[in-house]
Amino acid sequence: MKKFDVIIIGGGHNGLVAACVLSKKGKKVLVIEKNEKLGGLANYAESLSYISKEVIDELNIKIEKNVSENFISALSEDLNHTVLKINDSKNIEFLQTSASNSDQKNFINLINKYNLFARTLRSFMFKRPPRVKSGSRSDIWQLFSMGFKVRRLGKKNMRELLRVIGLNIADDLEDNIESNTLKGLMSNEAVIGTNLGARSPGSILNLLYNQATNNSLFRINKFNTNSFLNIIENICKKNNVEIQTNKTVEKINILNQNVNSVLLNTGEVIETSAIISNTDPKTTYLELVGASNLDTDFIRRTKNYRTKGTVAKVNIEFESEIKIKNLDSSYSSGKFVYAPDIKYIEHAFNDNKYNKLSLNPCLEFYINKNQLSANVYFIPYLINSSHDKEKILSNVKLILEKFIEENQIISSIIETPNDIENKYNIYGGHWSHGDMEIDQLLMMRPFYGSSQYSTPINGLYLCSAGTHPGGGITGINGINAAKQLLKVQGNG
Ligand SMILES: Cc1cc2nc3c(=O)[nH]c(=O)nc-3n(C[C@H](O)[C@H](O)[C@H](O)COP(=O)(O)OP(=O)(O)OC[C@H]3O[C@@H](n4cnc5c(N)ncnc54)[C@H](O)[C@@H]3O)c2cc1C
Repeated sequence: MKKFDVIIIGGGHNGLVAACVLSKKGKKVLVIEKNEKLGGLANYAESLSYISKEVIDELNIKIEKNVSENFISALSEDLNHTVLKINDSKNIEFLQTSASNSDQKNFINLINKYNLFARTLRSFMFKRPPRVKSGSRSDIWQLFSMGFKVRRLGKKNMRELLRVIGLNIADDLEDNIESNTLKGLMSNEAVIGTNLGARSPGSILNLLYNQATNNSLFRINKFNTNSFLNIIENICKKNNVEIQTNKTVEKINILNQNVNSVLLNTGEVIETSAIISNTDPKTTYLELVGASNLDTDFIRRTKNYRTKGTVAKVNIEFESEIKIKNLDSSYSSGKFVYAPDIKYIEHAFNDNKYNKLSLNPCLEFYINKNQLSANVYFIPYLINSSHDKEKILSNVKLILEKFIEENQIISSIIETPNDIENKYNIYGGHWSHGDMEIDQLLMMRPFYGSSQYSTPINGLYLCSAGTHPGGGITGINGINAAKQLLKVQGNG
């Protein structure tokens, strides 16, 4: 029987990053991936705004930046679109808009305010989150430094941070801005991939959190996702990590509360004393570990962890180059957002809440010559039923027709959260392997009793987007989980 020091379940980007860190330390690592292609959900991503210093230093990598400019175009039905340019220093410039000068100024002021708060949060994003009751010196120090950083904002800003952190984005926008397009654009950014609407408490926190991990308010396409995936795959290969694709781990075998081996769908059993799971926490605990190895209260918490996916992916091929009505073609490198106002977002969110299909979903899309790739927001994951995919596609096409100059559609494909769940084995097909809300963040991610990448099973760790700092392409979850394993084994 084959034996490895560490088995990583899943070859998503976090699993691969964990494999890089462990193999660099001389561990014999095996990665088992369900699909042919590595990278997991990162294969859907159109934007990679930021690679943190922690990842660059740990993996010793250099990632090339995309040369094209990053424009954000907020589409408006009267075809008076707003175009923003985000330059390298994160300054935002209006290139065209029908918003008044005072709205533009207030919008930039709001962004600067959120930038300031996100910078304060950023220092906590890339570290292992502290546990309140652990008593360990490093955790106490981290909690102290969290408090100190917030205090250093000064009295006025600290009060403002504490005021907005639980607030909904709609309230803050309505207090400051009149333009519906700008309110829609910012609200959309605050609720992407979540089960929150613009009026849901915590939507500002979600915005700040994403801003902190992406180092940018609007996720932009600064780096090439494929090149990042290739780099980490090559490091794995260079460090002799064994990667087996098209194989699924069906069970984690446990002996006396210790990890012992994994059982694959091929019937193979592979021995190990340490496992890092890159699949989501619910799949890991409920399906791979199994209820019989966990206590009742822990199972209850696992089941209560919220993982309803809300994003569908649509790819459309047109006959000829895509042109947006009333928009200079030089602005086509970047993202297009259709979330025209707060009310529109709220209606789409309400349908999602009741597991209904919204006729008017929010859209974010990217174009490349005659190809269009869109994220369709508020398409709810359904239990025991399925969506009429043709209906979603025709809704999306009706929206696009308003903005795209006449062009023939050659083919279109849609993947709903249910499809994403089936393909990647991720509960609910959730963008972040679980909602990013106050009770599922920081030291409470995924939930109490399973934080800091550890689990109740000795030798089992979690590294997926279901751990701190959550979803998106950061690689931080992978690094922190690998370091936690090394620390427990005394090699940290
Ligand atoms: C439609 C969509 C668009 C997105 N766009 C962006 C974006 O533009 N920018 C951004 O930053 N983020 C984006 N995200 C979010 C981001 O892609 C994810 O949060 C991130 O990639 C999660 O990475 P991960 O490594 O933690 O998990 P995953 O990528 O989910 O990796 C888990 C891997 O484990 C494998 N697996 C699961 N179970 C098993 C098993 N039992 N045995 C073997 N293998 C298994 C899966 O096949 C998968 O490859 C998007 C997500 C979606 C769904």
